[in-house]
Amino acid sequence: MKVAKFGGTSLADAGQIRKVIEITKADPERRIIVVSAPGKRTKDDIKVTDLLIACAKAMLARGEAEKELGAVVGRFAEIQRELELPESLTREIEADLRRRLARDRSHAAAFTDCLKAAGEDNCAKVVAAAFVRGAKALGFKVVVVTNQPGIAKNTLTVAELNAVNARVAELLKKGRATWAALEYCPHHPDGDRKCRAKYVKNCTCRKPKPGLILRAARKLGVDVKRSWMIGDGLNDVQAGRAAGCRTIWVGRMKPEHVERFFGSRKCEPDAAASDLAGALRIIKEAEAS
Ligand SMILES: [Zn+2]
Repeated sequence: MKVAKFGGTSLADAGQIRKVIEITKADPERRIIVVSAPGKRTKDDIKVTDLLIACAKAMLARGEAEKELGAVVGRFAEIQRELELPESLTREIEADLRRRLARDRSHAAAFTDCLKAAGEDNCAKVVAAAFVRGAKALGFKVVVVTNQPGIAKNTLTVAELNAVNARVAELLKKGRATWAALEYCPHHPDGDRKCRAKYVKNCTCRKPKPGLILRAARKLGVDVKRSWMIGDGLNDVQAGRAAGCRTIWVGRMKPEHVERFFGSRKCEPDAAASDLAGALRIIKEAEAS
């Protein structure tokens, strides 16, 4: 068994805490981690311990420390939101700080020490909650693979496609979702004089070929056999199968029609769902068994 200690700057924000979790998970020998209070995020930032000392000073001087308390709670709340932990955690942390602030103040040094300790105690709660959440999540990376023959056909520019993708990424971010990679095929096998010649070719990435999936898997170090391809087209199922993924076709068709449609093309998906939520349920069940 190994004990690992992480200092304040390595726990300063959600991104740093994620790294701590990855490092810890990568070594099965590590079983105990010791954490400090969140440190500075930038050179001019204030570490949580110093914010807590300011709380203690304000309380000792004025008998109230709402503003100072708000700064500490704010730091923890930011981390909680970014790690997508329940809001109740921030409320729990605030309640703990208020209990400490309400303690006897006749011994100033002991009172201050008690508040300073709140930084480590509560950071440990955050890290533990993030570990639990990580274990519950399925842990899949989301990859988008898309044919964009408009680029070859000269009806869409790469800049326009990038702008659309950036906007979709921005909207997803609001729902705290993101993709790990987006791979597109700009090619088309047939060209006329209106086409952009350099994109007219029989490439290996246009679905139903598996090139886009394989490229993403290589970039991300993902095992295709443990991955799922979800799509609403025949070519999605074909590309997924060719890449070696398990496949889910999403669409509205009676089960016997799904069977006939894909069966006659010798390309049956592993499962069919009527929407993405259904596809997710299928994956959760399969991963749990
Ligand atoms: Zn291509």
